[in-house]
Amino acid sequence: PLRISEAGNRLSTATGIYELMDDLGHAMTGPGAGKMRMLGGGAPAAIPAAQEVWRRRLAELLADPDQVDQVLGVYDAPAGSPAFRKSVADCFRRELGWDITEQNVAVTAGGQAAFFQLFTLLGDATQPIALPISPEYIGYADQGTQPGLFRSHRPKIEEIGPHDFKYHVDFENLDLSGAGAVCVSRPTNPSGNVLSDHELARLTQLAKAEGCPLIVDNAYGQPFPGAIFTQASPPPWDHDTILVYSLSKLGLPGTRTGVVIASEEIARRVAAMTAVVGLANNNTGQAIVGPLLDSGEALTLSRDVIKPFYQERAKLAREILAEAFGDAFPYRVHLTEGAFFLWLWLPELPIGSRELYERLKRRDVLVVPGDYFFYGLPEGDSSSNEWPHRRQCLRLTFSQSEQTVREALEIMAEELRALHG
Ligand code: PLP
Repeated sequence: PLRISEAGNRLSTATGIYELMDDLGHAMTGPGAGKMRMLGGGAPAAIPAAQEVWRRRLAELLADPDQVDQVLGVYDAPAGSPAFRKSVADCFRRELGWDITEQNVAVTAGGQAAFFQLFTLLGDATQPIALPISPEYIGYADQGTQPGLFRSHRPKIEEIGPHDFKYHVDFENLDLSGAGAVCVSRPTNPSGNVLSDHELARLTQLAKAEGCPLIVDNAYGQPFPGAIFTQASPPPWDHDTILVYSLSKLGLPGTRTGVVIASEEIARRVAAMTAVVGLANNNTGQAIVGPLLDSGEALTLSRDVIKPFYQERAKLAREILAEAFGDAFPYRVHLTEGAFFLWLWLPELPIGSRELYERLKRRDVLVVPGDYFFYGLPEGDSSSNEWPHRRQCLRLTFSQSEQTVREALEIMAEELRALHG
């Protein structure tokens, strides 16, 4: 029999992110594509005005044979194309006043790869990555090559009105001692929470006091793609802050392009890791988007097209959900302050969220069971193991069409009515 290493086993056995991406891939590209009501993955919506921009940029590239040869025929440097890194640094310096140059920028094969590199660089069981709020992004959960990479914390839960709720950092119980880094997604996948400027400032201070960097995952954040629907400032940057961006949620997940903005040392180390794992990055996304950062079009597209699109979708999905669910059973939805998801809490769900996911999948409705997002909580702490909230949540993507969202939520309401008997 094949002898698999411990690290190999951790990375290659059924992981939540693999199940999620496999479901997504089959639903979007497999033989039955189109049948499944896809409220699963975090794929960006097909927004015609954004697609127009990508097609135009590809046409511009194709019209210039030298650029085509450069994009297809040449390995980039591991840190990314020098022109693109300069465009990124100039854009952030101009827009947000950050004191950075291209030396602070490293391109990666998507945000997901950026996190693998950063967590491997900064964390292990003896200096864990502290996650101030659990639930946190499913894609981090299985990235450790050893157990014990994360130290997650339960949030304070504020119940608002009959059907809303919101998470806050529980600063009184936040333990950053010995952490290798602190990490938050803002907006948060899965909950759509946006940490307030005040919470972020406090985390920055606490991480500094602990002598470790604060990583902010801006996959949905400002200034691009800008899927934030409340008042929140873009994160400030300094040498102790690591900001991760991605072209995916702008609408270019196929280009696999992530951007790390960090101290020169960290940017250099991330680039060195890119060389080890993959030699260099895909340069198509960089070639498409670089000039749009220079002209500012990437930011106006985010502000004028992408943000309003998702804000409208969020509102609509919430209205459809209220109509479909009525008052037949208790439910709450996290305030949708950003990102592409409704985060549903069913406090009296008689089964676990995974079983509910299976039932819905049999009816061609794909969602993500919430328990995947609650990793890194203390083992053997019976209070946290028994935290029922972990098994009572579901993540629903609202980036698909209104009809898909409506059908899916109506089927879900039927199942839930039956379950709550
Ligand atoms: N971070 C968050 C919070 C995400 O939701 C995602 C994708 O869903 C990623 C990072 C990684 O995305 P990508 O690797 O496409 O940049």
